Formats: sequence, structure tokens, C-alpha cells
Amino acid sequence: HLSKRLETVAGYLIKDSSFADIGSDHAYLPCYAVIKRLAKTAIAGEITEGPFQSAKNQVIKNELSASIEVRKGDGLEVIEPNEVDCITIAGMGGGLISKILDDGKEKLEGVSRLILQPNIHADFVRMWLMENEWELISEQIIEEDDKIYEILVAERGEVNKPYINKNIDAAILTGPFLMEEKNDVFKKKWSLECEHWKKIVQQLNAAAATREKRVKQKELERKIQLIEEVLDNE
Ligand code: SAM
Repeated sequence: HLSKRLETVAGYLIKDSSFADIGSDHAYLPCYAVIKRLAKTAIAGEITEGPFQSAKNQVIKNELSASIEVRKGDGLEVIEPNEVDCITIAGMGGGLISKILDDGKEKLEGVSRLILQPNIHADFVRMWLMENEWELISEQIIEEDDKIYEILVAERGEVNKPYINKNIDAAILTGPFLMEEKNDVFKKKWSLECEHWKKIVQQLNAAAATREKRVKQKELERKIQLIEEVLDNE
């Protein structure tokens, strides 16, 4: 049984394709995808020895060695250009996901879809996609075990398309598709985030004023306003 989070990621794989799962840990996603025939073959990439061994064991246990290769290395260094159609990177911060994509840009040749699941800082990922000519084509926000996750899917295309007629700052922060759909999970995530920011603003107000604190406070107030506009706007 796979988590709803990784099942959602797997649901975006291109059928009969090959994909690389970077930071695969136990290789649960590649095993599930190949068993369910959501993909034909997979490469599981891992930088850390422990998870690398877990991934290898999982593939052997499931008798999937003919269709899944486990490779040890940093980010996209484990793949060659034109080797896979899709790349999945899940369960890391948006900063790390963007760095992995950026460091491995030349390996993205031949890749037609990216499926990314940042635990935090999805806005970093949206920015990276926009700056590197990947068009966001779909987004999901889901809740599982009291945690909220976002899944971002991108293909090469017109980077500005999802942002047309939207407040760009709000759309980068919260997601152009997610802010339009504005489902209950989205509302929950951003109301909690706003409450949290408001508390920080109060603390900053109470503390002795320094330039640095004022800058931080202004930035938070700007984000609170952006979010409140998105949430209020029916
Ligand atoms: N993708 C799985 C998931 O979503 O459940 C595992 C997520 S786990 C929290 C993050 C994994 O990424 C760890 O096993 C870690 O070793 C690996 N990782 C971190 N940085 C990496 C990098 N630069 N290249 C490859 N793997 C990396």
C-alpha cells in the first residue's frame, strides 16, 4: 500500500514511459508504478547509502530488477540525457528540488514531464519552472495524516500561460491552479499559514525595532495581505 501522496505523484506518470525517481528512499514509488503498469521502467536515484540499500532490497524483494535500476548519486547525476521521459522528485523541500533540477539541467534533455512534490516552499519550485521554460500544467493539494502536500506537474511550453490574469505574486506563492480551485485543503493550509505569520508579526512588533526586523515584518505583512485577498475573493 502506497501513501496517497505518492499515489498522486504516480498518477501523473506518462503511461508506458520510463522515469527516474530522484531521492527514492525505499523505491516505493518506482515499485508501485511498475507493478501497476503506470510506467514501463524506472531508475531509482539515491545519494545516501542507507536509503540506497533499502531501495535495492525493495526492488529485489518485489522481483523487479528487470525493470527498475537503483543508482547511487547526487540528483540528476544518476541519469543520462534522453534516458527517461519523466522525472519525479518527492518528499523534499522546494529549495532542494530546485537545486537538483538546476544542477542537472543538461540531463533534462529528452525529459517531457516533471512531477514534483515539495514538502515546503513550493513557490521556489514554481519560480524555477518559470525561469527554465517549464510550464506548470497541473497542481494538486492533498491532506494525509494531518499534513498537507502539494504536487506540481510541468511540461515544456508557455511558462506564462497558467499565470495570465492572475496576481503573479499570489499565484507563485499558492499555485495558479490551486488558488483558482481553492478547495478545503487549500483554504486550511493558507488560513493556518496566515495565523502563524500574524503571530510572528506580533512578536516582531513587541521586540525592539531593528531594521532587519522591520524588513521581515513588512515582508510577512505583504504575504498576509496576498493570502487574505486570495481567500476572501469568491
Ligand atoms: N521520495 C521519497 C518520498 O517522497 O517518500 C523519499 C523522501 S526522503 C524524505 C528524501 C530522500 O532524498 C532521502 O532518502 C535522501 O537521502 C534523498 N536525497 C536528498 N538529497 C538528494 C540528492 N541530492 N540526490 C539524491 N537523493 C537525495
